[in-house]
Amino acid sequence: MPNNLLRQIPKVDSILESAGWVSLVSACPESIAKDVLREHLDSLRLDIREGRMDSVPSIDEIVTAVGIRAAALIEPGLKRVINATGVIIHTNLGRSLLARRAVNAIMRVAMGYSNLEYDIEKGARGSRYDHCRSVLRRLTGAEDALVVNNNAGAVFLTLNTLAEGKEVIISRGELIEIGGSFRIPDVMKKSGAVLREVGTTNRTYIEDFERAIGDNTGLIMKAHTSNYRIRGFTHDVSSEELVALGKRYNIPTYYDTGSGLFYNFEGLGVSGEPLIPDELKKGFDVISFSGDKLLGAPQAGIVIGEKDCLEAMKKNPMTRALRPDKFTLAGLEATLLLCLDPDSAAGIPTIRMILEEKAAVTKRAQRIASQLRKKCPHAGASVIDVNSEVGGGSFPDMVIPSAGVALEPRTMTLAALEAKLRRLPLPVIARIEKERLILDIRTVLAEDEGDLVAAVAGAFQNDR
Ligand SMILES: *Cc1c(COP(=O)(O)O)cnc(C)c1O
Repeated sequence: MPNNLLRQIPKVDSILESAGWVSLVSACPESIAKDVLREHLDSLRLDIREGRMDSVPSIDEIVTAVGIRAAALIEPGLKRVINATGVIIHTNLGRSLLARRAVNAIMRVAMGYSNLEYDIEKGARGSRYDHCRSVLRRLTGAEDALVVNNNAGAVFLTLNTLAEGKEVIISRGELIEIGGSFRIPDVMKKSGAVLREVGTTNRTYIEDFERAIGDNTGLIMKAHTSNYRIRGFTHDVSSEELVALGKRYNIPTYYDTGSGLFYNFEGLGVSGEPLIPDELKKGFDVISFSGDKLLGAPQAGIVIGEKDCLEAMKKNPMTRALRPDKFTLAGLEATLLLCLDPDSAAGIPTIRMILEEKAAVTKRAQRIASQLRKKCPHAGASVIDVNSEVGGGSFPDMVIPSAGVALEPRTMTLAALEAKLRRLPLPVIARIEKERLILDIRTVLAEDEGDLVAAVAGAFQNDR
């Protein structure tokens, strides 16, 4: 019996001559398609020998199966998803979305030559570090600015340049860990600086810092406790106190502010986020922050501050290892230029999403829910109140009243629906809460609403 079936498997030559195969290899490299075909036929033979099959598929069936597998192989692994979590700066979903201007700027340098390291005035070699410098100086009032790959790199470079082999004094309450294993003590160790933690987890005073100062003190550091708050019986040292202490003992001061916020946008709520220009005015020698958190730019680490410190950082050989590429610089510069005007800054996607009025989100949720009720009555769609979050370790206390579409599926479990949505060609990332699947519409782009409806309808297809 198996031998008989084995002989019935279509010959490779006839498969390669079929119309289905010809159309398959017009959309997929032939070598990949042939590899997949070979694997497919091997497993078919094995299934037959081990008695798992009692008939042989047709050429068309084989080509279809090979086509699906081959298409999956050439599909990019990094793809667009719909973020229906309501977490705006979602670290797992790509953090900040770029403004159109930033995208256009990236496209221009991506598809054409640029003056990345060329001084057009002088007709000579220039520096990539000059590109965002002037707009950063204008925005923050800093003497100098330097862009690196991300803020973790900026922290490392600052510590390594200013405090290698020396002590860095920091409050015990600020020894933060950011997701993805960024921990201040670990970065400090790798930078060659020596951690000198002072105070206690909840209470630290300026006297604690002063007592720790010695011959080998290299830097006084402050880190924004961006993803948590210590409440209750607490005492913090203010920026002003730290800066005054540094000046008194002639020790540089550094503030890792995390997010990069330039304005206290109206409607942003009680702000616990430091404003970059304000902090710099208080007198820190160096401040660093991320490009892709509240600033809404590409991933980058931005260092601003006093000229001598920044010059020393630029000369550090590690800077080369942390240098940003031209896409980052183009997208960052375009975003920073938008930030020169608070109104256009408010239109940068990250800030725009935070500021979108609840009523507007509700309207969008109602529109989506009503389409879903028509297209997939089994989804049990309704509009509910939810709370969005800023995410990305910014405004840890702040919840933003928002509107969501709740799904109460009648034909499958919530876990099955959640997984189905996640595995669609255009994945939808949602959360389960109180026996419902919640799609928070605040983080769903207006232009993605149609795709969201189609995606949910897709999850309910063949499901009566
Ligand atoms: C996010 C954050 C970092 C790390 O920044 P990345 O840009 O993610 O590398 C460092 N310090 C603070 C305080 C942060 O909030």
